[in-house]
Amino acid sequence: MPPDVGLSPLFRRAARVGCTGARRRLHPPGVAADPAPWAVAGAAAGEDDGRATPDPTQDPTEDSRRTREEVSVKKQRPAPPRKEDMRPESLMMSFGYRPEWSEGAVKPPVFLTSTFVFGNAREAKEAFAQAYGLPGPLPKGPPHLIYSRLGNPDLEILEARLDLWDRAAASAVFASGMAAISTSLLALVPMGSSIVFARPVYGGTDYLLDVILPEMGIPTRDFPAGSEPAVVEELMAQLAARGSPCKLVFFETPANPTTTLTDIADMAELAHRHGALCVVDNTLLGPLYQQPLCHGADLVVYSATKYLGGHSDLVAGVALGSAELIERVKLFRTIFGTMLDPHSAWLLLRSLETAKLRMTCARKNAERIADWLFAHPRVSRVYFPGRLESRHQRRIYRRQCSGPGALMAFDLADAGEAEAYRLLDSVRLIKLAVSLGGTESLIEHPATMTHADVPENEQAALGITPAMIRLSVGIEHPDDLIADLSWALDQVDAADPEVATVGREEAPGR
Ligand code: PLP
Repeated sequence: MPPDVGLSPLFRRAARVGCTGARRRLHPPGVAADPAPWAVAGAAAGEDDGRATPDPTQDPTEDSRRTREEVSVKKQRPAPPRKEDMRPESLMMSFGYRPEWSEGAVKPPVFLTSTFVFGNAREAKEAFAQAYGLPGPLPKGPPHLIYSRLGNPDLEILEARLDLWDRAAASAVFASGMAAISTSLLALVPMGSSIVFARPVYGGTDYLLDVILPEMGIPTRDFPAGSEPAVVEELMAQLAARGSPCKLVFFETPANPTTTLTDIADMAELAHRHGALCVVDNTLLGPLYQQPLCHGADLVVYSATKYLGGHSDLVAGVALGSAELIERVKLFRTIFGTMLDPHSAWLLLRSLETAKLRMTCARKNAERIADWLFAHPRVSRVYFPGRLESRHQRRIYRRQCSGPGALMAFDLADAGEAEAYRLLDSVRLIKLAVSLGGTESLIEHPATMTHADVPENEQAALGITPAMIRLSVGIEHPDDLIADLSWALDQVDAADPEVATVGREEAPGR
């Protein structure tokens, strides 16, 4: 059984009043073991192969209906609702924290401290021995906090809550999505071995995998997102034949920006058969619409800058998986110093309380906009998990996704960079900016912005054309978003386009 990774003492007052009960994990340490009722109730519409991601936001259906006998037993012995059975959105306001630890404060404070006081030298010795894994008796109770690079109460509460969404045994939060990805890969791929990864991936991840890791002696090979396992297996065989066995398969699903899906269960099975780990970047759907660990992935990573943070006001990353993997990842986090800071952790705690509300609203808006764009004569193609063209892709969607999210891309018909730029320069409500997953809608040009460092021939092979526009749909009123897009699309062919300057106007009062 994985070790108890319960929260450290929040501070000494907590220890005095003996508030240790809530530090117990409420959810099972094993990822897929003994799921809560809400987790087994939902399945993606239309597929009955038993592998669809359970939707934590759906109400239980058949599974929660009691037989008459069960109901009569319940009547005799009424029991209070158990936290173990509650949905993540119900626990995001309270899990992992007790007000009596902070003078009754309903919300945890920001623990802006670099270091933590020990009661006596012996306690300090034991804490360090435990942190360094030295032989000898372990101190009683949860690990003592030592220094904020190793751990901090805000980080621990945040990690406990993130585990709930993804049904993970453990997690580690980082200073950025790239910090989570680079630290995890360096922690998990031994020298002398190699990585295979799906393309497209986010431009920064692409550079890490295509340039930096090979320069450091970790060869990599790429395969097109959505490939059959046989294609990937062939790459793994080639790498093994060159003396660098593949130890990690990495992919985004949906991929950024084409939203191509890769089958998580198939890739995890292939990876495990070859003694490799399967790591999935789940940034685009977030834990609300896809839970890769439930489909066999070993590690899931996020840019928490996106939907988890959700307000475009922080930069953060997460890695989640088994206690053993996260222990190793955290060791590297400690040594590289890539951990999240307490203030951003606190902001993320606040964001998680509205994750379901925000993502549901953005998803509904995106579905409407995707349909509208699809019917627009100036648009030749829409890339969106809710509008997949191939049967194979739709099948993967039904197996592992419970919603399409709110990120899409589209191609302008008969267009190139100039036409795409006209559209980008014409939007007024939607902001021309990179990133995604915020409350506001953002638009950008992958070929010359987020994916500019992907070589041109690779871009063409991946379908990232000069006419492609990426749109992250926010929570504005959908009619206003459609009106903005409609106006901007009209400007593409206008003889005298009226270019917006909203982002560059002087601030009021200046
Ligand atoms: N993964 C995906 C899918 C992304 O889109 C991004 C950034 O845009 C990252 C990872 C990197 O995250 P961060 O910018 O938080 O480092």
